Amino acid sequence: MESPWTVFIESGKVRHVLPLDDAEEHIDSSWEDNSYPFDPVPQCDCPCHPRREYEKDICIFIHSSFDGREGLEWANEILK
Ligand SMILES: [Zn+2]
Repeated sequence: MESPWTVFIESGKVRHVLPLDDAEEHIDSSWEDNSYPFDPVPQCDCPCHPRREYEKDICIFIHSSFDGREGLEWANEILK
């Protein structure tokens, strides 16, 4: 099944799973919170409040669609 989601590779360590042509724009960039006492934690300021997951040492932001489309299962598929 064709799914209107895409993976954006921001860097070698940060990726975003984003809905395509969503009702509102997503922010597909992140910044590192160096004030954290341990390793820097990537933060994404997208208004959809993306979920942060880790695949080994790669940080993946799973964005939520503004138009309510279902993408979670597909996201889990590609992250295997
Ligand atoms: Zn988003």
